[in-house]
Amino acid sequence: MGKLDGRVVIVTGAARGQGEQEARLFVAEGAGVVVADVLDDQGEALAKEIGARYVHLDVSREDDWRAAVDAARKAYGHVDGLVNNAGILRFNELVGTPLEEFEEVVRVNQTGVFLGIRTVAPEIAAAGGGTIVNTASFAGLTGMAYVGAYAATKHAIVGLTRVAALELAARNVRVNAVCPGAIDTAMSNPAQLDPGGDVVAGAEALDAVYSKLVPLGRIGRPEEVARLALFLSCEDSSYITGQPFVIDGGWLAGVSVI
Ligand code: NAD
Repeated sequence: MGKLDGRVVIVTGAARGQGEQEARLFVAEGAGVVVADVLDDQGEALAKEIGARYVHLDVSREDDWRAAVDAARKAYGHVDGLVNNAGILRFNELVGTPLEEFEEVVRVNQTGVFLGIRTVAPEIAAAGGGTIVNTASFAGLTGMAYVGAYAATKHAIVGLTRVAALELAARNVRVNAVCPGAIDTAMSNPAQLDPGGDVVAGAEALDAVYSKLVPLGRIGRPEEVARLALFLSCEDSSYITGQPFVIDGGWLAGVSVI
C-alpha cells in the first residue's frame, strides 16, 4: 500500500529540483502525478521515466492552470492534490531592484500560488477533499538580505496558506506550507545548470558554507523536502492544516554565541 494510492496530484516546477523529487516520491507512493513546468523537454523526460503525465504550465498564467486541470482530469479522472512548488529567486539590493524584476518574482512565486489554489481547490473539493502544499521558504518567516522580492513573496505564501486553510477546511481541503532552508538544487547550486559545471565541487562548497551556518552542518537535500511534502499530502497529517513547516537543519532555531 502506498501512502498516496488513488490520489492525483499536480506538482508545479516539477521538471527538476525539489519538484522532481516530489513527483518521483509521490508516484512511488501510488499517486497519479502531473509533472507541470515550463521546462518542457526535462519535464516530458521525467514524466516518461516515472510514469507520470507532463503538462506545460506557466504558473503565472490563468489559461495554463485551466488547461493543466483539464489534462489531469483527462488522464486520471479527478484531481485531489496540489504541490505549489514552482519558484524563482533574484538577488538584488532592495533599493536597487527594478520594478520589472520585483513584479516578475511576484508573478511566479505569489500570483502562481494564488492561481493554483483558486483553480485547483474547487476540483479537490469536488473530488471529496484532499491537500494543497505550498512551497514557501525559511525566508518566508524571517528576513534575508538581498532577496527582498523573494522574501516578500514567500511571506505572502505563508499568509495565503493560512487563509486558504481557514476557507477550505469545511470543504475537506487541507492547506499547509513547507519552508525549506538552503536546499541543494539549481537555485542554490547553479553548477547544476552548467553542462561543464562541477556539481560535486559546488555541493561541497555549499556544505562548507552551511556547515558554519546551519546546526546540522550541511545543506539540505531535495529528497528531504519531498518527504515533508509527502507527509503533508497523505493521511499521516490528517489533523494538520494552515501551518508552515520549517525544514532547515535548525537554521531558524536561534543563534549560538560560542
Ligand atoms: P529549481 O530552480 O531547481 O526549481 C524551480 C522549478 O520551478 C524549475 O523546474 C523551474 O523551471 C520551475 N519554474 C520557474 N518558473 C516557473 C513558472 N513560471 N511556471 C512553472 N514552473 C516554473 O529550485 P528548487 O530549489 O527546486 O525550488 C523549488 C521551490 O523551493 C521554489 O519555490 C523555491 O523558491 C523553493 N525554495 C528553494 C530553496 C533552495 O535553497 N533551493 C530554499 C527555500 C525554498
